Amino acid sequence: MQLEQLGEFALIDLIKKDTINKVDSVEIGIGDDAAVLKPTPGSLQLVTTDMLVEKVHFDLSTSSAWQLGYKAIGVNLSDIAAMGGVPKHVVIAIAVPKHLPVDFVVSLYDGMKEICREFGVNIVGGDTVSSPHGLVLNVTVLGEVEPEQLQRRSGASVGELVVVTGTLGDSGCGLDLLIQGDWQRHNFAAPLVTSHLVPKPQVLQGPMLATLGSTSMNDISDGLASEVNEIAHASHVGMRIYSSLIPLSTQLQAAAPMFGKTALHYALYGGEDYQLVFTIAPEQFKLLAQVDIGARLTVVGEVTDQSQGIRLVAEDGQTCALEAKGYNHFR
Ligand code: ADP
Ligand code: MG
Repeated sequence: MQLEQLGEFALIDLIKKDTINKVDSVEIGIGDDAAVLKPTPGSLQLVTTDMLVEKVHFDLSTSSAWQLGYKAIGVNLSDIAAMGGVPKHVVIAIAVPKHLPVDFVVSLYDGMKEICREFGVNIVGGDTVSSPHGLVLNVTVLGEVEPEQLQRRSGASVGELVVVTGTLGDSGCGLDLLIQGDWQRHNFAAPLVTSHLVPKPQVLQGPMLATLGSTSMNDISDGLASEVNEIAHASHVGMRIYSSLIPLSTQLQAAAPMFGKTALHYALYGGEDYQLVFTIAPEQFKLLAQVDIGARLTVVGEVTDQSQGIRLVAEDGQTCALEAKGYNHFR
C-alpha cells in the first residue's frame, strides 16, 4: 500500500506503538498538540537537531529504510554523548513522497525504534508532511547532563592528552566502496560498509568519559582533523597529533589503496565515524585506562600552547599544519 491510500492519521497511528521506553520521564508522548516531558531536576537540557535530505545525505539505492532510520537517530545521539549527556527523547519530522510504500515508513521507524530501545530513548512526537521530490528527515534529540559533566569544546588545557574511541576512517572508505558498487567481491569491505550505513555512536561512553575526567569532547562526524581544530580553536590551545598513533582497522588499511588514498587520509578527513575525541589530563587518563568503558581508547596526541599551532607529526618526526578539511556543504 502507498502512503496516499493510507493517509496521515492512520500512518501516525502505525508509528505510535513502541515509542516509549522510559515511562517515568514522559507525561504525554505522541497524540496531543505537544509532548509533555518531565526533566530531571538539577540537570541541564541538551537539544540537537539534524536534517537529512535524500541524495545529499543518503541514497536509497545503497541504504535500506531500516538502516537510514537507525543512523538518523544515531548521529543525533552521538551529539548528545559528545556533550557528556544522556539522550532522553526524540522528535521526528518527515517529508515523504506520497507514492512511497507504507512498508518503507514502517521499516524506517523500526530502525529508529531499535536504536531508541537500545539506549532507553522515547519517541515523543514529530510531524508528517508530503514531499514533491525525495525524502527529508529531521531528527531532534533532547538530552540531559549534570552541570559538572558538561563537555564543552572550550575545556582543553595545555599538557592534556588527546584521545579517541574506536578506529577512524572506516565509514568514509565504506562510502567510497558503496559508491563504487561491487564491494561484495572484497572480504574486507563488509565491516567498512556497515560502519558507514549503521554507525555505532558512543552513546554510553560520552557520559562515562565525562565522569572519568575528560575536559573537552567532540564526536567525530567530519574527520579527526576537523574535530581537533574545533576543540583547539574553542580552547585557545595548540595540538600535536601523531599520525603513527591514529587507530586504523586492518580492513581500512586493505581497502584504502583501491581509492588511491591512505588509511590515514580517511581517518583525518573522512566523515561519519561517530567516534569521540576528547582531552584529559595524563594522570586522569591513567585511571581511565583501567576502566572498561566498552570502547577501545587510543592516545593520538597532546594539547600544546596555542602559539605552536595545530600540527600533524609524521612517523619521521616531520610536522605539518593539520588543517580542517572535512566535508563542508557549501563548498
Ligand atoms: P498537530 O496537527 O497538532 O501538529 P499532528 O497531526 O501533526 O498534530 O500530529 C499528531 C501527533 O502525532 C502529535 O503528537 C505529533 O507529535 C505526532 N507525530 C506526527 N507525525 C509524527 C512523526 N512523523 N513521528 C512521530 N510522531 C509524529
Ligand atoms: Mg503537525
